[in-house]
Amino acid sequence: MTNPLGLYIHIPFCEKKCNYCDFYSAFYNKDTLSVYFKALKGEIKKWGGTIHRPIDTIYIGGGTPSLLGESIITLAECIRENFCVLDDAEFTVEVNPSSSDNFLRYAKQAGANRLSIGVQSGSDETLKVLGRTHTTLDAAVTVKKARELGFDNISLDLMIALPDSSADTLRNDINFILSLNPEHISSYILKIEQNTAFSKKYDTLNLPDDDDTAEQYLYMCKALGESGYNHYEISNFSRDCKQSRHNIKYWIGEDYLGIGPAAHSCLDGKRFYYPRDLRGFIKNPQTVYDGESGGNEEKLMLGLRLSSGVDLSKIYDEIPPNIIEKIDLLKKAGYIKADLPYISLTDSGMLISNSIISELLW
Ligand code: SF4
Repeated sequence: MTNPLGLYIHIPFCEKKCNYCDFYSAFYNKDTLSVYFKALKGEIKKWGGTIHRPIDTIYIGGGTPSLLGESIITLAECIRENFCVLDDAEFTVEVNPSSSDNFLRYAKQAGANRLSIGVQSGSDETLKVLGRTHTTLDAAVTVKKARELGFDNISLDLMIALPDSSADTLRNDINFILSLNPEHISSYILKIEQNTAFSKKYDTLNLPDDDDTAEQYLYMCKALGESGYNHYEISNFSRDCKQSRHNIKYWIGEDYLGIGPAAHSCLDGKRFYYPRDLRGFIKNPQTVYDGESGGNEEKLMLGLRLSSGVDLSKIYDEIPPNIIEKIDLLKKAGYIKADLPYISLTDSGMLISNSIISELLW
């Protein structure tokens, strides 16, 4: 099989844990990073010798990839030495807004052509509550420097439904993000995950209720739409056709390989992942089988994340009458757009996508 593959590389280190974060990352230590880097290069070499498929997207995420510093150049060289990276490959690096200017330069030198910057909010007070190490000024300066270096594909993260948030604070956050003029915006509804700093003080957080959260989401969809951003996936908006080519692979069921602790892969019909275990990865990197990919349930779940939706004729030889009935009801309720065999979610439907998918499946 010669279909191109997406490649994800995980850099599982952070200098400080953000209060809401449950991504897998360890506290940064220069020596541990250097040992990890060696193990990572070993795995890249191993996979490069096993899979003979071109790479059309690279995504270096974390954690905090900027902790790599100049080594990102060596990492990119290692990827190119071991895989055939296509000339027009999308190459994204996640960047913390408090990253140094030098890192942006190194990322450029490594061949990165897309940055994903964790801006999150347009309020310094909120950033402190979230436990972020950057300020809004850092975010603005990082975007400006990235533009000066020639990056013309920048994605900014925006979090909504934050503690003490309201329609006014959200408007301010959106205006701040828009003032930075990104090509792409990824938005996340804050979820209080177990074992995060927020989960430990859950009772003291003044969080919006479900109705307010829904209002914030719908307001954001409207505001970004009116500013020229295409809402192409539940949490993602783009302009100038600058959708995330890498992430789209996840949603349309294309193959990708993830390397690093907690990184997931989907390859030749199989899903597997590396455990959330940095030491284990350094000592003896092994993946764990996670089932077959491409089932109907998965096709529906992933496909409905996209505004382009799902072609049900690719799932059912004949759409069962009870599904048609449910689609009709969901359409009348304003959650689904349907022109059978095609269905997709409206903005309101995207907000409760899990319930809709369960409704359609059972
Ligand atoms: S949100 Fe990002 S920077 Fe913050 S702890 Fe999680 S991975 Fe690290």
